[in-house]
Amino acid sequence: MPDGKAREYRVCIKCVMDTTDPDITFDADGVCSNCHKFDRELRPYWKPDEAGAAELDALLEQIRSEGAGKRYDCIIGLSGGVDSSYLATRLIEWRLRPLVVHVDAGWNSELAVKNIEIMLSKLGLDLDTVVIDWNEMRDLQRAFLCSNVANQDIPQDHAFTAALVGKALEHGLTYVISGTNFATEGVLPQAWGYDAMDARHIRDIHRRFGEGRLKRFPLLDFHDYYVTMLQQLKFIAPLNLMPYDKASAIAHLEQNFGWRYYGGKHYESIWTRWYQAHYLPVKFGYDKRKAHLSSLIVAGSMTREAALAELEKPLYSDNELAHDTAFVAKKLGLTLQELESFIEAPPRDYRHFDTHDDDIKRYHEAEARRASREARQRQVIARFTQNLPQRIARKLSSMLASREG
Ligand SMILES: [Zn+2]
Repeated sequence: MPDGKAREYRVCIKCVMDTTDPDITFDADGVCSNCHKFDRELRPYWKPDEAGAAELDALLEQIRSEGAGKRYDCIIGLSGGVDSSYLATRLIEWRLRPLVVHVDAGWNSELAVKNIEIMLSKLGLDLDTVVIDWNEMRDLQRAFLCSNVANQDIPQDHAFTAALVGKALEHGLTYVISGTNFATEGVLPQAWGYDAMDARHIRDIHRRFGEGRLKRFPLLDFHDYYVTMLQQLKFIAPLNLMPYDKASAIAHLEQNFGWRYYGGKHYESIWTRWYQAHYLPVKFGYDKRKAHLSSLIVAGSMTREAALAELEKPLYSDNELAHDTAFVAKKLGLTLQELESFIEAPPRDYRHFDTHDDDIKRYHEAEARRASREARQRQVIARFTQNLPQRIARKLSSMLASREG
């Protein structure tokens, strides 16, 4: 959050991020730190080109061969949203045999549930649903509202990831296929959404404001997740290794599967819609559409003018807002006044509570170093094998690659 000093309002000249991101800085030309961060940290790993296609081919081959003879060779979480639904269709084309996991944290819209059913039956996939204990989920969400932090999606996001990796380990699966993609979500200021995988943060907020105990909620400790699981599991984000255009993905799903769009990013959950389109903008001044539209701009799939025009549209229609607010209040066991009072209460920085912030930063820095080391190794291998016959080159690369880890 801002330190209290008034800041002059300013917008990036390249994307549509502005000083509502408390940590934003601008270079001499007026290009913001979010744009630079994308170029520096994400662009090197975003390969919607031939290099990406080759990398993806090699990965798919590896997943298929390691999974040969097993019932499943990978796992994917399906929310009913565009990214995961589209990815599920591609997995089948790529001849993978995924176990599909859906995590029900209590907020699914009817449309999301229908989408999931349609996708599963048309693709002939097995589903394993994890239902989060609603009493604990509600207790945790109410505790987060009391904490006044920005990222109110932490309980839901943590549950999704924890349940998914739990299922991967239960089924002995190594490859977790993720719909994460830089083409549509490359820009997100940290202040707008603190890490959902920080169990210390969750525990501290629940200890102070929760009512019951978290016995069944799938809480993953920092060490278990960042150290053990992320070493044991391999997270693959195929959408970063291919051209990915959301509008075409939606058209593909609608035309071939009868899947239906729900409007807005992550609006497959009523909670997320209310939280992103009402709580965040009103209480914090954060309009997540700015991050999403800026992602599209830096990825080159939208012009800045079109994004600015999009931002002119209202976040909610009055009817819809009243409907969703009533729904959220009822579901959380709050009166409308109680829910509104959370929006009116002063915002709090997430650092007000216990976190593993520094450990997580160190983890990401180490990961970035490892990734660039591997990229250099791959370049060396490519140079070394470029003049060999293709069959031998491929065999040699995969032998060398398997020694990397
Ligand atoms: Zn920018």
